[in-house]
Amino acid sequence: MAVFQNPYLEKEVQGYLQAMETATNWRPLQQEMIERLSGSLNIGKYRFVYHAPKSILRTQEIHLDSIIFDAKDAKESNDCIYIHHDMEEGSFCDNYIWVKDGMEWTNQQREEIQFLVETMHLCSSRLMTAQLLRTNLGTDMMTGCRNQDGFVAHIGRLLAITGLDSYYAVFFNVGNFKYVNKIFGYRGGDQVLAKYGRKLSTLVRDEECVARLGGDNFVALVHESHVQHFLAQINQFEIAHEMGNIHKNFVFNATVGVAQLQGLTAPRDVMARCSMAFNVARATKQKIVFFTDELADKVGKQQEMILNFKDALHNHEFVVYFQPKVQLDTLQLCGAEALVRWMKQGTLVPPIQFIPPLEANGYIVELDYYVLEEVCKKLSGWRREGLDLVTVSVNFSRRHLDEDNFIERVMAIVDRYQIEHKYIEVELTESNDFQDYDIMSNTVKGFKEKGVLCSIDDFGTGYSSLNMLKQTPFDIVKIDKSFIPLFGEENVNRKDNALFQGMMEMIRDMDMETIAEGVEDKEQLSYLKDAKCYMVQGYVFDKPLPEEEFETRLIRKKYTL
Ligand code: C2E
Ligand code: MG
Ligand code: MG
Repeated sequence: MAVFQNPYLEKEVQGYLQAMETATNWRPLQQEMIERLSGSLNIGKYRFVYHAPKSILRTQEIHLDSIIFDAKDAKESNDCIYIHHDMEEGSFCDNYIWVKDGMEWTNQQREEIQFLVETMHLCSSRLMTAQLLRTNLGTDMMTGCRNQDGFVAHIGRLLAITGLDSYYAVFFNVGNFKYVNKIFGYRGGDQVLAKYGRKLSTLVRDEECVARLGGDNFVALVHESHVQHFLAQINQFEIAHEMGNIHKNFVFNATVGVAQLQGLTAPRDVMARCSMAFNVARATKQKIVFFTDELADKVGKQQEMILNFKDALHNHEFVVYFQPKVQLDTLQLCGAEALVRWMKQGTLVPPIQFIPPLEANGYIVELDYYVLEEVCKKLSGWRREGLDLVTVSVNFSRRHLDEDNFIERVMAIVDRYQIEHKYIEVELTESNDFQDYDIMSNTVKGFKEKGVLCSIDDFGTGYSSLNMLKQTPFDIVKIDKSFIPLFGEENVNRKDNALFQGMMEMIRDMDMETIAEGVEDKEQLSYLKDAKCYMVQGYVFDKPLPEEEFETRLIRKKYTL
């Protein structure tokens, strides 16, 4: 430290540096040192200005303008050393040091003051950065909400003070946020998300807390007296945004998982409960799900199912059943649907128990290809036996629409077994996402080019859109059983009839064929015939059958009533 000719100065600065190592506040140390050095450096007055605008790091503007030292014998008209420091994110600090009245600085003193101020600046800004970092570690930079660490820390504090018995955890995802990105792009999307988070923070009280977990996922800790109100708010959350000449008023809803926290003593249990409820809500397309012990039990079983899936597939535990389709006017067998079952430790598990969890984690894709391969193997076997084949339809999850090579993979399997393409039909289900329409329509066109039939399954139950039907050249529409009029003591209900007839007419006008699913009684058959719905699949003819039994239908070819 050759700058100081005066060993006293050097010692002072060294003492200051040492004290700053462990200090939590820079100001008293700085003040003290200047006071002590003011004599030897002829300092009369020291003014310090710090300004930091609102930014990602700070939720509000900070402006500080204070006299750190004033010996009462310096005027602001005296000689002044001015030192400016630019800091991160548009913040700065200005230092004004006036000479004592009636004194003059030597060059050496000027240098020493300069050096002193630089040293103090380095030390204080290091301390401030560390402090800022500590507060911001628990903060989500984009929204100013807490992040997961901040949330967990908050729970920890609350546990120590009041416990969690009167609190709820609410885990939620903002509904349809991707459309915001579509309209405004990712940068605009981030701005909307930042507004969303800031508005959210105003909804919670002091002891409550809200955190962003990344993307458009949030979690909140809300008092029981306030939870209904909070849930109502996030279900109708208004945000206005403007960018360029686009102005939008969004009203967001949310997919929500809620957990009551009574008896919980660990932050990770809080997260586990509400995120489990949320995952169930998302997978089952419900708006809100509450955590219960039964839910945990069910999820546990499903997770076990998923864990066992790969081994089960490898061990051929999945078996394919065939449900005949019958041509009504001739009573001829005209096709079959392949339906999978899981032979698990000697019991046959129906698809409703394992398809939804496999859909949720994506394993369904592998299962569908497996089923297709089993179907091709059977078709090839029956052909070898000299039987007349019928078209077999295979169910494909919507998940396949995300694959780049869906058509290629299907065709590769079909061709490996040298199955004529007309014997394979792909069943797809409706989608609630209009963005899928293009993919859906291109996929169906692609299969058509290969000579593979395509049908839309469960038509009318989900998110049917006539637009989608118009855009997509399906060969066959499978009308769900809920639309097929039932016969009571009286005749068919007038409205059911009108709906069914209207549907039939519309589908025919689009040059598609229809098949009625889930037909259970004979009275329905003559009704369907009158309505010119000639293909039928249902218990009235057969339930889904194991392959050997289906083979007898292939041989017999015809049904009697
Ligand atoms: P789905 O594709 O709509 O299949 C028709 C369902 O209706 C089958 O249920 C069938 O057994 C049932 N069904 C047929 N006729 C009647 C009837 O007359 N009355 C009643 N009440 N029901 C009838 P299943 O086999 O339990 O399959 C349920 C669903 O699981 C299927 O509905 C399909 O969405 C899905 N699924 C089955 N196998 C597969 C598969 O290999 N892959 C995929 N992705 N999904 C599959
Ligand atoms: Mg089906
Ligand atoms: Mg169906």
